[in-house]
Amino acid sequence: MPFTLAIVGRPNVGKSTLFNRLVGKRIALVDDRPGVTRDRREGDARLGDLEFSIIDTAGLEEVKDASLEARMRAQTEEAIRLCDAVLFMVDARVGLTPADHVFADLVRRSGKPVILAANKSEGKVGMAGAYESFGLGLGDPVPLSAEHGEGINELYEALAALM
Ligand code: GDP
Ligand code: MG
Repeated sequence: MPFTLAIVGRPNVGKSTLFNRLVGKRIALVDDRPGVTRDRREGDARLGDLEFSIIDTAGLEEVKDASLEARMRAQTEEAIRLCDAVLFMVDARVGLTPADHVFADLVRRSGKPVILAANKSEGKVGMAGAYESFGLGLGDPVPLSAEHGEGINELYEALAALM
């Protein structure tokens, strides 16, 4: 069984963008409208000399009999259960939202090793989300730009330490 990393976080923080970058193909749908249908995706990822399996989460399926949040939660819990480590992603530009805390609680309770990533950190430094995310109790954030490929070396170091 390869080492499996699950990318977890509320919609729109950039999980699928990072997933696509690490898998090297456009498998996951990237969309800036939270709430479009997106399934859980798994792929073979590579980061430098590290090879691992990766799970993209928080597809919001249009299921009528479950609330959106319950659905997202169930999907995220399943991915956390399956993985060896979690990459918990927040949006450095927006700052923490109530949904970030809901997902952070799931990650914390799982007891799985976690890499905290503050995405959308390109350009300006010291944005709200990166500072606030220190308070999640999930360790020091790795500033990342999934879209522009920044912070990938720091992500490599954090992942290499867990594998
Ligand atoms: P997900 O819902 O967490 O999977 O987020 P997506 O990967 O679908 O991305 C949501 C939006 O954020 C899209 O418009 C992306 O282009 C944008 N995005 C993703 N990564 C970055 C980044 O590093 N910087 C900026 N500025 N935007 C990003
Ligand atoms: Mg996505």
